Amino acid sequence: MCKPFTAAGLLLSAVLSSGALSCWAAETQPRQHDAHVHGVGTMNVAVAEGQLLIELSIPAHDLVGFEHQPKTPPQRAVLEQALARLRQGGALFVTDAQAECRLQQQDVASALLAVEASADAEHHHHDEHDEHDEHDEHDEGHAEFELRYQFECQQPARLNTLTINLFSEFPDLAQLKVQLIGPGGQSGMVARAGNNRLVLR
Ligand SMILES: [Zn+2]
Repeated sequence: MCKPFTAAGLLLSAVLSSGALSCWAAETQPRQHDAHVHGVGTMNVAVAEGQLLIELSIPAHDLVGFEHQPKTPPQRAVLEQALARLRQGGALFVTDAQAECRLQQQDVASALLAVEASADAEHHHHDEHDEHDEHDEHDEGHAEFELRYQFECQQPARLNTLTINLFSEFPDLAQLKVQLIGPGGQSGMVARAGNNRLVLR
């Protein structure tokens, strides 16, 4: 499920009252977890009132190379490395220096993290899965990472571009389908390694 940014929900609902971004706007549509294509992620960007909001859904395959909870020490290590990188929102998303944007919040979520997150809890539940397998494997299932970053910009009038540095960090991620809502309205584009700078206005 797509949950709104806790601190920015009001802003988002205002910005997105058009219902343009299905993920952020729809309460009704359940997300299709088996529908992703490896190498292709989605990214929603909203700019309004000094806030820059970024939300991504990326196949776990593209970030760690597998789509189940880690089973071996090497897999755990890969996952930890990916998490460490994903939690560097200020390095992954670079804005114009003169806009003076600062990362305020970030959130990294994935079904792959359930074991780590609840290692000390006897009962853990996935908030998105009603049925729970006896065994740990999601046999043929897919899994994504859901990423959210919120920046606040002191000089929003000077915010012109957003450079995405995910592609160099995660070479298996070939492209991001971007939906942007900014001062100039709504637009869509495909970002990739050779074309990783979004024009925000
Ligand atoms: Zn997959």
